[in-house]
Amino acid sequence: MPNEASVNEKGYEALRERLRRLQVLGSVSGLLGWDEQVNLPEGAGEQRAAQAELLAELQHAAATDAGLGAAITGCEQALAAGGLDADARVVVLAARRDFDRVTKLPSELVAEKARLSSEGYHVWAAARKARDFSAFAPVLEKHLALARREAALLGFGDRPYDLAIDRHDPGLTAAQIGGLFVELRAGLVPLARRIGVRVAAAKARGEGPVAMRGFDVTAQQRVVRAVTARLGFDYKRGRLDVSLHPFCEGSGDDVRLTTRFNADDPLDALYSSIHEAGHGLYEQGLPLAHAGTALGLAAGMAVHESQSRLWENQVARSQAFWSWLEPMMRAEFPNELSGVSGVALHAAANAVEPGGLIRVDADEVHYNLHILLRFELERRLFAGTLKVADLPGAWDELSEEMLGRRPAHAGEGVLQDVHWSGGAFGYFPSYTLGNMIAAQLWTAARRALPGLEGEFARGEFGGLLGWLRTEVHAHGRREDAFELTKRVTGETLGPKALLAYLEERYGN
Ligand code: ZN
Repeated sequence: MPNEASVNEKGYEALRERLRRLQVLGSVSGLLGWDEQVNLPEGAGEQRAAQAELLAELQHAAATDAGLGAAITGCEQALAAGGLDADARVVVLAARRDFDRVTKLPSELVAEKARLSSEGYHVWAAARKARDFSAFAPVLEKHLALARREAALLGFGDRPYDLAIDRHDPGLTAAQIGGLFVELRAGLVPLARRIGVRVAAAKARGEGPVAMRGFDVTAQQRVVRAVTARLGFDYKRGRLDVSLHPFCEGSGDDVRLTTRFNADDPLDALYSSIHEAGHGLYEQGLPLAHAGTALGLAAGMAVHESQSRLWENQVARSQAFWSWLEPMMRAEFPNELSGVSGVALHAAANAVEPGGLIRVDADEVHYNLHILLRFELERRLFAGTLKVADLPGAWDELSEEMLGRRPAHAGEGVLQDVHWSGGAFGYFPSYTLGNMIAAQLWTAARRALPGLEGEFARGEFGGLLGWLRTEVHAHGRREDAFELTKRVTGETLGPKALLAYLEERYGN
């Protein structure tokens, strides 16, 4: 007769196997999604939609399967009796949370949300083009109502915005983030003003970032591939392709990066590729043996974004990085760069443009102000202290306060982002939390690895990557963003390191 321990082990293995199969299914639909944005023939849209729909049905059936529920319950009982270890606890708790979320929502609500998101996208795109918020307002109203219904069904009835945040960053709350953002705003607004005055004065003297035109795209492709490979992205287990908007898809042994090339802006492809490679390095570094379970998943969007930002900003905008990259750039672009000095090249990589109203075009200094604005408005919408009809006015007012300028129309204001058309609330804060964590990790990494910048100047990045693998990637989702930051850096997640980093790099 088998003993109790082996019964527990068997039950746990069975749960892991179910979670692994769920992940495999998810990876197939992820791959189809990648293909849709990279390769799909123009006429194949309907066929692909049918494939995606069938896969979504299969995924939903597997995720709500009664056998999965029973496997989770069995493991919970084993845990309560002390029959499973701490790692198993992480896996079982996360599986329970996900299972409850998919089974507690009626399929009618899920279908309505999917329908509204796909219709909402087209309504938003047309409204943005027409610069007419009132055309989009009804979609936003419906998404908010759905989000409230979901929150009530999932036990977040009195704090629906927390559910929206928790979906991207498990365990985090609006109150926690709000406190950090107040502190960040207090430091960032004056810093941005100060830099803005300086940049305006330089402009008045006729100084500014050098224009870069006509950069050969084939050479750009060689450069971004060489750079991302040198950072450590494993091209035997990944690819880099072209899409309209850069993204990273996949995990484990098959991670797909995309970028885009513009002959008149070679730094766009360079930095978007490095950003996506940062996401890709994280996915390639997660423990493969735990694929599909919480031990093999990223800790959340904030930590994910910290990885992409760390490589993109702290590493690849540094003087040391450019002293390594410049010779390669000159070899690939001998004519394009003939009149551009090394100083001008590095300055272009660190250009700051005050007064910008568009989030996706914002530089490192101003980007977070765009996020603070959106977080504040989402929070008021969910709290009911801001009506949808009053959103454009509130947007413009905050824009004036934080960015120093009011949008001339809704297209460069409240209608600029796609997120709300799909009901993706609570996503924006992850970007800024990621920037904070990146700066904190950077401080800790420099302390732990004093020779880091010398290594960058020689094109060596394995020291930093190895440190991130051990300190961050290997831990999967054992901790939330706060716990992870505290363990790795010894400091509480907060804006101090980010403000100090921005001051150091852009203050003068
Ligand atoms: Zn990103």
